[in-house]
Amino acid sequence: MRVPTLPPRTLFILVDGLGLGTPDPLLNPIYGGSCPCLQHLLDHQAVPIDAGMGVGGIPQSATGQTALLTGVNAAREMGRHVEGFPGPSLREIIRDRNIYDQLTALGSTSTFANAYFTADMNEVRTRRIQSVTTVSALKAFDRVRDTAAMLEHQAVYQDLTRESLRERGYTGPLVTPAESARDLLSIAAEHDFTLFEYFQTDRMGHKGTREEVNRVLALFDAFLAVAIKFAEQPGHLFLMTSDHGNIEESGSSSHSANPVPLVALGQGSELLRTRIKSVTDVTPALVELYQDGSAGTPRPTEIQEISQGRAKPPAEPGIFQQAATGV
Ligand SMILES: [Zn+2]
Repeated sequence: MRVPTLPPRTLFILVDGLGLGTPDPLLNPIYGGSCPCLQHLLDHQAVPIDAGMGVGGIPQSATGQTALLTGVNAAREMGRHVEGFPGPSLREIIRDRNIYDQLTALGSTSTFANAYFTADMNEVRTRRIQSVTTVSALKAFDRVRDTAAMLEHQAVYQDLTRESLRERGYTGPLVTPAESARDLLSIAAEHDFTLFEYFQTDRMGHKGTREEVNRVLALFDAFLAVAIKFAEQPGHLFLMTSDHGNIEESGSSSHSANPVPLVALGQGSELLRTRIKSVTDVTPALVELYQDGSAGTPRPTEIQEISQGRAKPPAEPGIFQQAATGV
């Protein structure tokens, strides 16, 4: 008989366009000194996993992210790697198999922490172009986190500072990447599973100058240095991986064929590092962790909080999901 273990509380950071490349600062900006935390994680914690899914060609976002968030070999289903945003077939896979719904079926709560710059959920629901993360969150929660949630620190904008919202008319306060990370940690404290998507890495890999690349890596690093503290709490799991390589190859503006890093820290991390060999293994391995755990049992930290009278009421699932995604 297996000894039952508690399900983890998970923070999953999906980084778009981050592969494992050569550790040469002339070829790989991650080794250029602007992101020591990320570099350390890649050097000492990351396991390389396959992003190619057994299909020829260079891995792309629509199929890669669908695979990450469903466990389905989306490239094989489509017969090729599909760029950018999911069309009808991939959307069907996402709606049918997304990780949020799989975890909900096990009695676990989940959320998408990204902020969307909008006050109108119908506007988001009817967007013609939607990212994999948007389609997943709308299917599972019927909404995403909006501007109001962001201003209440209940959503994190994808650029980590809100600076890029200025050109879209945003006049509210800017935040530091560390503040964004703290907002993310407080969202993640209220759910069994929290996803955050970061894609400036891919954007910079496509069109950033060396200076812009370094600036983005430094912002992301300041965010990451706080976000990984999540795993220091008992029963917590920090997970970071990517859909395909890009930013780690300076000389090219397209995606790379490199493996992507899997960084898993905290509860369940040994199992994930052993079990996950490909982007298609992430969701099944996570679901396995939650299946093995006794869902609904309080974690040690919660027992402590309850005994000290500090426990919060359970978060209401589905209220604030959001996805920011660039859009
Ligand atoms: Zn890309």
